[in-house]
Amino acid sequence: MAETVVFLGHTEAGGGLSRITLEALGAAKSVAGELVVGLVGQETQHAANAIGGCGASRFLAVTGEPFGESRYSTDCAAAEAICRAAGATIVIAPHTSRWSRSLPGVALRLGGRADTHITGITRAENGLEVARWFYRQRMEALLERAERPWILLLDSGCCAAWQGDSTPVTLEKIDVEITPALTRTTVTGQQAPQSEQQTIRPDAGLLFVAGAGWTKKQKDGAVHAGQASELISRFLELSQASLGSSKSLVDLSGEGHVVLPFLSHLNQVGQTGSTPRHPKGLATCCHGEEPHVVGWRFIQERRAVNLDPNCGWARGKADVLYVADAFEVMARVNALLEKR
Ligand SMILES: Cc1cc2nc3c(=O)[nH]c(=O)nc-3n(C[C@H](O)[C@H](O)[C@H](O)COP(=O)(O)OP(=O)(O)OC[C@H]3O[C@@H](n4cnc5c(N)ncnc54)[C@H](O)[C@@H]3O)c2cc1C
Repeated sequence: MAETVVFLGHTEAGGGLSRITLEALGAAKSVAGELVVGLVGQETQHAANAIGGCGASRFLAVTGEPFGESRYSTDCAAAEAICRAAGATIVIAPHTSRWSRSLPGVALRLGGRADTHITGITRAENGLEVARWFYRQRMEALLERAERPWILLLDSGCCAAWQGDSTPVTLEKIDVEITPALTRTTVTGQQAPQSEQQTIRPDAGLLFVAGAGWTKKQKDGAVHAGQASELISRFLELSQASLGSSKSLVDLSGEGHVVLPFLSHLNQVGQTGSTPRHPKGLATCCHGEEPHVVGWRFIQERRAVNLDPNCGWARGKADVLYVADAFEVMARVNALLEKR
């Protein structure tokens, strides 16, 4: 059966498309015979032109003020209208919080199915095959489905982002009737930490992991938690890396010890934490035990700084281990970054 593949994106606050959205477009391009683009947002012409060179046969859009904000009712109505207008059998969308809340509902309305946290999409003999991890990233499953439309929400960092020239395109505007029920929920604003306080940055090129060693007695016999906090926050500010942590360190923070004020359990990487996807990772003052390192499964290049030449990282878990004092290393790294 020939599939009608729809790439479904929504614009961001500034009207552009995020990196994860371009990754979903890259994935859709790689499997679609004929591709249809669907966009939702307050204004979508600019975003459509930006991906105008992607070779889609149609560019559909639901636009207008009610579609500028993330809201379940309007997002569902917009996505449903695009899928129906395109006659979608496969829908490939980025796993943003906005789409992951609304698209499973759209699948229900269309009598189809949705799968979330997809990590790969390939063409198979009888259609498409998608990859997804289960049981805290221990098992990878390859799925096929007979139901259509099949909505696939693609995780970030799994596919190459689409790159190409901006070309003016003619948008087919799809009308969605704004009934009072659709706008019963009013979006009054967003509450989020300021970006400099936000330490989890999924799009960052580097994951910087802090371990409990930062809070342990150092060679002068004293603890230097304040200095550790300054060094790490300065490094994050200069490099815009994402901050991960070992379990031991976040547990200490949870016990009320003043360690790193910007650290919470959300930063924990590992078996009982997260499994982030960054091209590079640098672990500091972290032993590199298996329950922690299992969370590094998708980090492509791994380095660690540890005083102990026999730490876990030395046993084939890191590409490079610097046997050194992380306080000295990070002070020097910060000085070099400041010079830049
Ligand atoms: C069921 C289970 C689930 C778990 N899940 C997770 C999980 O999801 N994530 C996780 O992280 N852990 C997890 N753990 C805990 C894990 O086994 C380790 O206990 C934990 O990762 C250790 O944290 P750490 O390496 O920061 O601390 P430590 O083991 O205390 O290591 C501190 C390190 O810092 C080094 N150090 C000290 N000072 C310096 C310095 N100045 N310069 C350089 N190095 C220095 C030391 O040499 C040492 O290697 C789990 C454990 C269990 C049993």
